Amino acid sequence: MAKYDHDFFVIGGGSGGVRAARIAASHGARVAVAEERYLGGTCVNVGCVPKKLFVYAAHFAEDFEDAAGFGWTLGARRFEWPRLLANKNAEIARLNGVYDRLLRDSGVEIFEARATVADAHTIEVGGTTVTAGHILVATGGWPVVPEVPGAEHAITSNEAFFLDRLPERVVVVGGGYIAVEFAGIFHGLGCEVIQLYRGPLFLRGFDDDVRRTLAGEMTKKGIDVRFDADIERIEQADGALRATLADGSRLEAERIMYATGRAPNTRGIGLEEAGVELDEKGAVAVDAYSRSSVENIFAVGDATDRVNLTPVAIREGHAVADTLFGGNPTMIDHADVPSCVFSQPSIGTVGLTEARARERYGAVDVYKSEFRALKHTLSGRDERTMMKLIVERASGRVVGCHMVGADAGEIIQGIGIAIKCGATKAQFDATVGIHPTSAEEFVTMRETAPEPEHEPEPEPEAEHEGHDRVPV
Ligand code: NDP
Repeated sequence: MAKYDHDFFVIGGGSGGVRAARIAASHGARVAVAEERYLGGTCVNVGCVPKKLFVYAAHFAEDFEDAAGFGWTLGARRFEWPRLLANKNAEIARLNGVYDRLLRDSGVEIFEARATVADAHTIEVGGTTVTAGHILVATGGWPVVPEVPGAEHAITSNEAFFLDRLPERVVVVGGGYIAVEFAGIFHGLGCEVIQLYRGPLFLRGFDDDVRRTLAGEMTKKGIDVRFDADIERIEQADGALRATLADGSRLEAERIMYATGRAPNTRGIGLEEAGVELDEKGAVAVDAYSRSSVENIFAVGDATDRVNLTPVAIREGHAVADTLFGGNPTMIDHADVPSCVFSQPSIGTVGLTEARARERYGAVDVYKSEFRALKHTLSGRDERTMMKLIVERASGRVVGCHMVGADAGEIIQGIGIAIKCGATKAQFDATVGIHPTSAEEFVTMRETAPEPEHEPEPEPEAEHEGHDRVPV
């Protein structure tokens, strides 16, 4: 008889957990998954997928305007939030079903319940106790909001996906992926949007040209982007919310949405008691194989706070399954992970920022292009596209590639392959462009940008001084 009830017990049915469970089962392991909330996790339910659907919805506002220059006259337009919400919810329900079927068809047992670790081989789940040879923590992350008085009146992205009505005026707090994406979504759907970021320029960690370009474009569209601005307290006032900022000024809005980061969802599930080491943010400390400080307990995805992106979690989960049950120990390479911010316009990025490349390599050549995309010659829209390549001078290798403009994610995905292969600028140049596209700019850049007159500031690592953030 087997020593344990399961070979592999996965806590969390999100992207990383589901992939690990399915692959482990395909290798012949006896697998169970516990999910207390919704199959598919953040990405499917309150993240990537519904967010992208909302971005499409929001972008129609500009598409309708742009159509005029191409000869179209459109009739009266009306946007119905409840219809978008219902269609989005139906699609998410379909995807929940797909995940459920995928797991069951792979022979994975599903517990629709919260699981806690009792000891290294024992899990309590849904009122029963089960044992497992290996445990995977794939519990994801959860939004955190600063401890400002009145923060309980605010929402996070979790609630933004289910609002009963679209606010006329909304304040978005934060300057990361989620904040810029939602500022664009709300604006496109017709809300008046004020975005507050505590520092001098949002998207810390992204290339400076990207940050400046997006700030300029969002402002041009009519989003009230305010830097060095932070909320000190929030009060309810006549059916609206009133925010008092650190400089004493006041804002009123129907909704205030915090997008001030996410924390690993790892507390209160018995990990520390079982000897699993967590860092100060609660992330499970893991090695290159995603193994925690307890030999048979692994962790992947946002619970480990490495590169918090769905496709990375999926790879990490797959690698754990191959390592444990496929006879193929697999480490994850977190270098040169491409990503896209679905702001409007969108950002695509892979490799190093200019500042990081200068820090690492000293001499670099920078190629930069800023232009109005062909479409906007007729639409009349004053939107600029920015593209940038950073080349290590000694080897000629392209070490960073960044873009702000339409379809940035679609374009940078392909460039990501070239960068992963170590392509040089000469190889970019030897590639024939596809005309007319914006993407062809990446293979036709000839002039290097002038060297900066001053040494660029090293990229800030440290967190700003600010309020503590608490999971909500
Ligand atoms: P981020 O960590 O990207 O950004 C958090 C933002 O909130 C930063 O601008 C930060 O400022 C600010 N902030 C933090 N604490 C405070 C505070 N106390 N007061 C005021 N502002 C504060 O988190 P997000 O919530 O935007 O996204 C979470 C993660 O989800 C991302 O890191 C990303 O990995 C992932 N994600 C990916 C997406 C994609 O791939 N398209 C989309 C959405 C999310 P500062 O920079 O000054 O610290």
